[in-house]
Amino acid sequence: MRILVQKFGGTSVANPETRTKVAAKISEAVSQGYSPVVVVSAIGRAGDPYATDTFIKMVSSIYSEVPKREMDLLMSCGEVISGTVMVSTLQSLGLEAVLFTGGQAGIVTNDCFGDARIIRVQPEKILSQLEEGKVVIVTGFQGMTEDGQITTLGRGGSDTSAAAIGVALNAEAIDIYTDVEGIMTADPRIVEDAKILDVVTYNDICHLAHQGAKVIHPRAVEIAMQKNIPLRVKGTFTDAPGTLVTNIQPDMEEGSDVIGDRIIAGIAHTPNVTQIKINIQNEDQKTQSVKKIFKGMALADISVDFISVQPEAVLYTVRDEIANKAANILRNMGFEPETLSSCAKVALVGGGIADLPGVMANLVEALAESDVEILQSADSHTTIWVLVRKEHMVSAVQSLHKKFQLGT
Ligand code: ADP
Ligand code: MG
Repeated sequence: MRILVQKFGGTSVANPETRTKVAAKISEAVSQGYSPVVVVSAIGRAGDPYATDTFIKMVSSIYSEVPKREMDLLMSCGEVISGTVMVSTLQSLGLEAVLFTGGQAGIVTNDCFGDARIIRVQPEKILSQLEEGKVVIVTGFQGMTEDGQITTLGRGGSDTSAAAIGVALNAEAIDIYTDVEGIMTADPRIVEDAKILDVVTYNDICHLAHQGAKVIHPRAVEIAMQKNIPLRVKGTFTDAPGTLVTNIQPDMEEGSDVIGDRIIAGIAHTPNVTQIKINIQNEDQKTQSVKKIFKGMALADISVDFISVQPEAVLYTVRDEIANKAANILRNMGFEPETLSSCAKVALVGGGIADLPGVMANLVEALAESDVEILQSADSHTTIWVLVRKEHMVSAVQSLHKKFQLGT
């Protein structure tokens, strides 16, 4: 059996016209001899009647602290609706289809409601339906704990469902269908001449995704990479080949060549972060203070980023919505935090970036030419980050894209 996993995001299943395109991709796979396993997201985006964000708003407007377990039960409904609609669509076109929830499909997770991790996938039920010649549809973004509680996998989690199922079934490929034609050098909503990356390594895409390129979830890339299952990101509304994520050179004999990371794969951005700065005058107590600060954040489950410990200050970022909570914790511990909200992180990503001479100089020059102030910066061998004000984010991404000639 040649298994192909096909995942369709919210805009792909949004309305009858788009669902007809989805059905065409599935029938095409069937006619090519594949047994497709189709992972679907909820229908539409915030404001649409069956979108996950609409459900969240409905209950959180009544009570802001809805228990996470119940919230997961609610959030899992969007995919059940779109999955049933997809089964009907396929049946109406003469394709036999069956729908499984994440739990029914054998996706076992831990009990971290709202952001559960997949522990294993038991694919027997999917396999027996495929063997009967049916198209198996699985609700994305969710699983079930060992004791039968419904969990969700965090935003963008349908990509993760697709990857985990693909690995468990040893699929020929995992196709992530979305509203753009592939993974591009930057978000095409911001950069007009962003270029589609035809072939890229798991490594490069994983870094781009971690830095905010929301076209694919980083965990999905990590999972596919474990078994070297090719991941393809494609447009639902086009026949373009999209982006192939792999470590093996396509068109080569298997194992004959591997591809390398790009010097610069692309630019990603994450808006809505707050910079927190804590001045520390007393040099003797610095180590203790740093420890206290980050322990305080960890105990409150606040994830921190962009940490910079300087001679007289500690700087880091948190998401805007938890900035007040973080500042209050710091004040309660006796610190006087200074906060700068509405910032954005812009990241230049590429596995070969460390080998590119003058990259930092060019980056600084590009941002200066666009009057973008760098509030903070950091680098690793694959990424250079800058923190800028949110109103500068778009020009920062655009000017870097141009400076490093990433466009078409
Ligand atoms: P889906 O609902 O199909 O999962 P998402 O909204 O999660 O779709 O992801 C697709 C969106 O990701 C695109 O509409 C695009 O604006 C955005 N995006 C961000 N960075 C990139 C990038 N580097 N390449 C392509 N798309 C990107
Ligand atoms: Mg997505």
